[in-house]
Amino acid sequence: MLPEEIRALRRDGLTEQGEKTTREIAEKEKREALADFKIEHMYGFNDPKTNELVNLGHEKMLSTIAQRLLDRHGDSIVNKCPRCQKLARTPNAKQCRHCEHDWH
Ligand SMILES: [Zn+2]
Repeated sequence: MLPEEIRALRRDGLTEQGEKTTREIAEKEKREALADFKIEHMYGFNDPKTNELVNLGHEKMLSTIAQRLLDRHGDSIVNKCPRCQKLARTPNAKQCRHCEHDWH
């Protein structure tokens, strides 16, 4: 995943209060010039790319990241039936639920 995607997912896990508190700590670190602004580095409150993802909202952000990963790595991260090319039930499945092909 891209750094901004990792940061956006981290921020997605924060509650509203958690986001507020974490932002405050990030600002405080910045004021105190702490080595490489750790919190900002983790959450990217001032990173335009991270903010763009977060501003999409939870569902849209997840689907945007998922779509980019599929576009980029689809063939290696998605388990498809070698015969009919349809999606397998799980990443480790070796039997197709669509055409019954078995590739054990
Ligand atoms: Zn199949």
